[in-house]
Amino acid sequence: MEPLILGLRWQDILDILINSYILFRLYVLFRGTNVIRMVLAICMLWLLKRLAISIGLIVTSWVIQGIIAVAALIIIIVFRNEIAGVFQVRSLRLFFWGVPQRRIQTPVNVITESVEELARRKLGALIVLPMKKSLEEFIHGGVLWQGTLSQEMLLSIFWHGSPVHDGAIVIQGNQVMKVGTILPLSKNKELPSHFGTRHRAAAGLTEQTDALVIVVSEERGEITVFKDQSIINIERVQELSEVLQEYAGTVPDKSGARHQTIELAVAALGCLVFISGIWFSFARGLETLATVEVPVEFVNRDQEMKIFSASASSVKLQISGSGSLIRSVTPDQLNVRLDLANAVPGQNEVPISREGIILPPGISLKQVEPETLVVNLDVPEQKKLHIQPNWTGKLSEYLIMKEASIVPETVEVIGGRLSLENIKTIYTEAIPLNEISSDGKIKVGIMLLPSSLELADQSQKKDIEVTFNVVPRLPPPDAENE
Ligand code: ATP
Ligand code: MG
Repeated sequence: MEPLILGLRWQDILDILINSYILFRLYVLFRGTNVIRMVLAICMLWLLKRLAISIGLIVTSWVIQGIIAVAALIIIIVFRNEIAGVFQVRSLRLFFWGVPQRRIQTPVNVITESVEELARRKLGALIVLPMKKSLEEFIHGGVLWQGTLSQEMLLSIFWHGSPVHDGAIVIQGNQVMKVGTILPLSKNKELPSHFGTRHRAAAGLTEQTDALVIVVSEERGEITVFKDQSIINIERVQELSEVLQEYAGTVPDKSGARHQTIELAVAALGCLVFISGIWFSFARGLETLATVEVPVEFVNRDQEMKIFSASASSVKLQISGSGSLIRSVTPDQLNVRLDLANAVPGQNEVPISREGIILPPGISLKQVEPETLVVNLDVPEQKKLHIQPNWTGKLSEYLIMKEASIVPETVEVIGGRLSLENIKTIYTEAIPLNEISSDGKIKVGIMLLPSSLELADQSQKKDIEVTFNVVPRLPPPDAENE
């Protein structure tokens, strides 16, 4: 039998691992996006639905079911860009392996130099660098730009005379994706009083997303970086360069990497627990019982001996396992072996041991019926036995059986040594005497008793000839009687 761990087949373990990995990969690819939050919300709804069903809230469970269906549709429609983005830019290798890195192609030096120049010229600027989280729902308006990043372009966008200098630009990779967009303003009362709407817009976006925002003040020519709720006043250009390099991933962020490892480990564990839960509730929960009749195979018998009879040739097994597994069981996958190694000539009561019952993996045994078999073993022997006619009933009172003969007189019989020991004669099938009215000859068969006996020559079985002579019984002389 295949080894089972915790009652699981290796296929079950593989099943759980593969699906946990697929779930984990989907998490890795979608983490930080809105899709993952919606999916988690759907999972919560599904749990609620299960709860509603279990306590019998029928209509509630229908309603939740409906919400789930609509939510699934909404995810696909509303986040189609995000979903497409996840699958488009990534290679197949990245899909199955590796953690997607932040865009590393963002030209840090171009941005640094441009910002420095903007500050020097006191051109107000608002530059958004998105991280993992999609900004779609936070930024509004604007013009699609999609121009390759250069100092000249940045300067001309924020030049006073430019029709798109108002609002924020969004940089993705080495492209200016959008210009003139509106960011959500921060409502934080603790921001410095000299912060106008440009700075408040930058603070507003970083309060709600993980994006990095650079502000160049029109009034003071100062550079400020907004990131993760923190506000960094840039004194030297070198500082800006460092912050941007960290953003672009060129400077390994130690704490960030550790944070990510922990996050992924927790996610992996979560996926494993989730899939195991599903597996156990679906595949395992539906435990099914079945009864099958399996022929017994007698093994390890002493070659000298022969099985003359057994109390049963098959046993009933009650097996259990998951429904689909039980249904897929074929008779040849079930084997019952009865070990006759210790059997002796004569009657043996042999228990059917669990080791002798071979079941497919994942199926367990509940019951065997019968639990023991009586097996008759003996050394086969051939013996010559006399045949006797087996007269039954009564001969007519007017007849007397004068003579009877049988051909052949003897027959060779094969049987166990023990059962043959005390047998000298063997009988024919019954010959009813009351049917006899005159001399005659009939053909009868041999009655093999015990039934384990066999004829050495099978053709003799029906061919025993019994000849008989009868004479009328003379009525007794009246005189003698009186
Ligand atoms: P500065 O130091 O440059 O004066 P500030 O913080 O004082 O900046 P304002 O003087 O109010 O801000 O700057 C107004 C400019 O900020 C607008 O012309 C516009 O370009 C930009 N701005 C204001 N609100 C937003 C917003 N919600 N989203 C994007 N840009 C905005
Ligand atoms: Mg101002």
